Amino acid sequence: MSIADNLSELKEKYGSDVALVAVSKYSTVDQVREAYDAGQRIFGENKVQDVLVKAEALPEDIEWHFIGHLQRNKVKQIAPFVSLIQACDSLRLLQEINKQAAKNERTISCLLQMKIAQEESKFGMSANEILNLLKSDDFRALNNIKVIGLMAMASNVREEAVVGAEFGKAKQLFNDIAQSDFGAQVQMEILSMGMSQDASIAIANGSNMVRVGSAIFK
Ligand SMILES: *Cc1c(COP(=O)(O)O)cnc(C)c1O
Repeated sequence: MSIADNLSELKEKYGSDVALVAVSKYSTVDQVREAYDAGQRIFGENKVQDVLVKAEALPEDIEWHFIGHLQRNKVKQIAPFVSLIQACDSLRLLQEINKQAAKNERTISCLLQMKIAQEESKFGMSANEILNLLKSDDFRALNNIKVIGLMAMASNVREEAVVGAEFGKAKQLFNDIAQSDFGAQVQMEILSMGMSQDASIAIANGSNMVRVGSAIFK
């Protein structure tokens, strides 16, 4: 099947209420162009160097999401054009994004990464760490970023009940934040959960944005 076929099949499967981020980290510029020509506009990359090369080579109306762990010293390079930084996991990173956003005279949208998996290696913050961050004066001082939701990755296991329960924790925090008032800087719009392997479980548990790579570009 072609990339265009994969995209239309997945869109049908996930439904029109779920935004599809095409994760192009293992794909060539030509493959991204093929997806673009099929109408795809949101792409996700997890390495700064790769998103710079692809953004340079491809049309300007692509929305580039940075989905990987982001080092503070690299924020500067993506700040002029990145559309959403999905895996923000510390106040210090948000402060750097804010600084670089201000230099570029823009506001950068961010998702906070919540750690829901049991595995040690996964990045992200606990529910309490996220709530404390949002309540802090240091966060409120950041006028050039906007937190528009949460991102989470489940354990890499087959048991649907385990994965579903993990996604459920992020949905719960998403709802709790949405029902609180953290000011205009925090607007819960996006709950980014689900990859090729677990997108359907994520959607069943409240995801409205999936990040899918191998199922599109296989
Ligand atoms: C690679 C990656 C994905 C996509 O994974 P697939 O299994 O190829 O769908 C999603 N999210 C993040 C953060 C990734 O690094």
